[in-house]
Amino acid sequence: MEIVFATSNPHKLSEVRSMLQPSGISVRSLDDFSNVPPEPVEDADTFFGNARIKARAYAAALNVRCLAEDSGLSVDALSGAPGVHSARYAGASGSRDERDAANNKKLLAAMANVPDGQRGARFVCSMVVADPDGSIVAEAEGYYHGVIAREARGAGGFGYDPLLWLPDVNKTSAELAPEQKHARSHRGQALRQLLSRLVVGK
Ligand code: IMP
Repeated sequence: MEIVFATSNPHKLSEVRSMLQPSGISVRSLDDFSNVPPEPVEDADTFFGNARIKARAYAAALNVRCLAEDSGLSVDALSGAPGVHSARYAGASGSRDERDAANNKKLLAAMANVPDGQRGARFVCSMVVADPDGSIVAEAEGYYHGVIAREARGAGGFGYDPLLWLPDVNKTSAELAPEQKHARSHRGQALRQLLSRLVVGK
């Protein structure tokens, strides 16, 4: 079996590839196509809404069934922000790493005066599989709960991983081995659910 994962984020691609490797599912990416359209405008106000936009746009343009996902960080003390705006929270330009660093800096500043006990947050990942005619084949959503740390820790993962502290293991998400992150992450949960839905055709 193979699946086309329509994402421009290399971290998401490598996470999904490594999670699917044991089941023998190979993941094709946008790099395997010559007719990749420009990224669609993600202007929905939910993760599912944006994932549907991406899955439908790429499936139609590439004429192949596509998986797409939208994900981000929702912080309780910030009324769910940065939410669907996670990737562009600080409005910074530059490389992906530079944008991530600016986002993390802005989040730490926004949380500076939030006391311990009120720093809960969760990553959300919505995954959608769509066909070229626009029909939705399967959908799933996963959550990854933690606490916003007082400072960044760890070099693994990407994005806000160094700021999501996991009290049960006293580590940030960026300090987990990749397979430990996959076992508990929003992306891992969404992917496992999605696969079971695709397999049993729910
Ligand atoms: P998207 O590529 O538009 O879906 O943006 C998602 C943004 O959410 C990324 O730029 C990251 O900042 C953040 N994000 C999503 N998933 C993760 C994760 O697994 N770890 C850390 N940050 C994440």
